[in-house]
Amino acid sequence: MTKSPLLKRDPSTRNVQWVFLGCPGVGKGTYASRLSNFLGVPHIATGDLVRDEISSSGPLASKLKEIVNHGKLVSDEIIISLLSKHLEAGAAKGESGFILDGFPRTIRQAEILEGVTDIDLVINLKLREDALLAKCLGRRICSECGGNYNVACIDLKDEHGMSGMYMPPLLPPPQCSSKLITRADDTEEVVKGRLRIYNEMTQPVEEFYRSRGKLLEFDLPGGIPESWPKLLQALNLDDHDDKKSAAA
Ligand code: ADP
Repeated sequence: MTKSPLLKRDPSTRNVQWVFLGCPGVGKGTYASRLSNFLGVPHIATGDLVRDEISSSGPLASKLKEIVNHGKLVSDEIIISLLSKHLEAGAAKGESGFILDGFPRTIRQAEILEGVTDIDLVINLKLREDALLAKCLGRRICSECGGNYNVACIDLKDEHGMSGMYMPPLLPPPQCSSKLITRADDTEEVVKGRLRIYNEMTQPVEEFYRSRGKLLEFDLPGGIPESWPKLLQALNLDDHDDKKSAAA
């Protein structure tokens, strides 16, 4: 990745440079997007960059579609090139800071990122594995407005030392309900494969940041109404000026 003006800012004046880690379905996109509105920094989801490239029908589109639909990881080279282009375009528009979601996903990506900029904080979101699968299978997107919803009602009992949890569905408004689509990689078989790949390729990234004192572990206590205020508390943002407007 080349050093963009965004990445060379003085750490004392620049905006936050945070990373969200966590298994597929944990809610990285939801909480990264809320925090990015809250803090006024761009939310950059590499999964979205890949899906945009696929829908643009560019030269990489069919190769990427095949990889993503099978739940495999895109090569480090391709993902870094997509991310660099996005960061450079953002820097040209005067954007600063970022909340990364879905990157880095391999040790090599983490090392490359570490070589070009300082990451301030890595938030590792955690949820029971049975909830992750149910959340991926319940995920729906409005094909018109792009809104993200979830039709799963998760009601898990205390089991094998894991505490129970209730997460109500996040249903679409009436104008979206007939336009819902499911991601091609949100089938049971592919989600299970993505969880295996996470454990093998991405879990070591947690240790990478833990050993550098940058990892904040956050066990999601339930749905958004319970988890969001607790996340703000864990980030020492609960008395942030924008809290009332952004938390709505
Ligand atoms: P999730 O976190 O739910 O698995 P994402 O939307 O983050 O899904 O990513 C979707 C797909 O995009 C991944 O399964 C992978 O194929 C590709 N992808 C996204 N980010 C990366 C990355 N950093 N490295 C490699 N592949 C990636």
